[in-house]
Amino acid sequence: MSETKRVRTRFAPSPTGYMHIGNLRTALFTYLIAKKNGGDFILRIEDTDRERYVDGAVDVIYNTLRMTGLIWDEGPDIGGPVGPYVQSERMGMFKDYALQLVEKGEAYYCFCGKESLEEKRQETALTDRPEKCACRHLTPEQVREKLEAGVPFVIRQKMPEEGETTFHDEIYGDITVENASLDDQVLIKTDGMPTYNFANVVDDHTMGITHVVRGNEYLSSAPKYNLLYKAFGWDVPKYIHCSPVMKDQNNKLSKRNGDASFEDLLKKGYLKEAVLNFIALLGWAPKGEQEIFSLEELVQEFDISGISKAPAIFDPVKLRAINAAYIRKMTPEEFLEVITPYIREVVKSDDIDIALLASVLQPRTEVLTDVYEQIDFIDKLPDYDTSMYCHKKMKTNEETSLEALKAVLPVLEEISGWTVDNIHGALFSLIEKLGVKNGWLLWPVRTAVSGKQCTPGGGVELCRILGKDETIARIRDGIDRLSK
Ligand code: GLU
Repeated sequence: MSETKRVRTRFAPSPTGYMHIGNLRTALFTYLIAKKNGGDFILRIEDTDRERYVDGAVDVIYNTLRMTGLIWDEGPDIGGPVGPYVQSERMGMFKDYALQLVEKGEAYYCFCGKESLEEKRQETALTDRPEKCACRHLTPEQVREKLEAGVPFVIRQKMPEEGETTFHDEIYGDITVENASLDDQVLIKTDGMPTYNFANVVDDHTMGITHVVRGNEYLSSAPKYNLLYKAFGWDVPKYIHCSPVMKDQNNKLSKRNGDASFEDLLKKGYLKEAVLNFIALLGWAPKGEQEIFSLEELVQEFDISGISKAPAIFDPVKLRAINAAYIRKMTPEEFLEVITPYIREVVKSDDIDIALLASVLQPRTEVLTDVYEQIDFIDKLPDYDTSMYCHKKMKTNEETSLEALKAVLPVLEEISGWTVDNIHGALFSLIEKLGVKNGWLLWPVRTAVSGKQCTPGGGVELCRILGKDETIARIRDGIDRLSK
């Protein structure tokens, strides 16, 4: 392959209705290789396996790529110079390509019935030397007769019987197989349609793909791919096979655990940018210490040499840490926008100061769903035990707390503008007037308005968030509880 060729990569998902984390990583690496080299990132939908086809699945692919910013330069929706970009719409051309190989003596018609050879293969599997079909040796005359008689056929690749094939992968290095161990794979099936492997190779070539990035489950087919390129006399693209993403050493990520897809992670409260950043580090190591990368930074940093052969382990602790780092970086306005729907799942009350609530939650949130448990006291004061008023460090107990709340109540009732500054001002002048420690007064306030030991924000903020009426009602409730 000439070095000056424009880099063209393709993401070729099968529309299964589900964006597995491993697939999204393939898409990301594919995108990064194209962009790093100033090349084109192409989207091709491989929808020929109708059994796996799921309605609406193509939209899942579009949406996920768009959301994560992996924008394609050519694809089914926007077209491009080498369309169509949906495999099922390309079906017409494959037979002609297969016939070119028949012509060159690199493939042959096989009339013996699809099953028979596969059955023989089963029998000979242990010998590692698949039996070759007798149709290999039909004369052109015999072939013509059978074609004229309408005998159904497949077209098979004529694998070399001697020697070895070495296939090079950018990650796995050279892989050599004995040619004798390779079956004469079917290229065109009895229905005239191409097999997956054949369509994939012809599509990649006709689309000018220079780098093929895909999961390593295809690694064992790769020598056959190589031989097809060779049979046509085409340049072999660079292959980058990626190791699987595992839950741990022995188990793959599974759909059932709800941790295998991009959507699952969003539902669990991870940010799309954080997920993408995390995915970049699954099986790829940057050169330096930096771990937080925007997509633009990844384009700069990415290097194929950093991809690892070892299976990538999905580390939820790391994902959480990366997500937290993204939340810390957000402006209060950005955080308010993403967190509001989560807050609204729990808090229905209209009177609360949601912007202030978001701002106190931001430093206390690593994953968006963390907020549920932190805000469960807002709509309704939980039933709590008065022992919660006792705090050793704050030097409070039930008696001092009753005293404090009784002092606080009229002061809060007096406030006319219910702002943080006003509440703060009023409570701190009371602290000064009474000559008490901050905690002596503020701990009971916090307890009374939340009924919780742990709250996002202190007493002043909670009062402001809840609104004046609710705050007063909760302080009174606290006084009642403590008076019993
Ligand atoms: N359609 C294949 C898949 O989704 C991709 C194969 C390839 O990239 O060559 O697994």
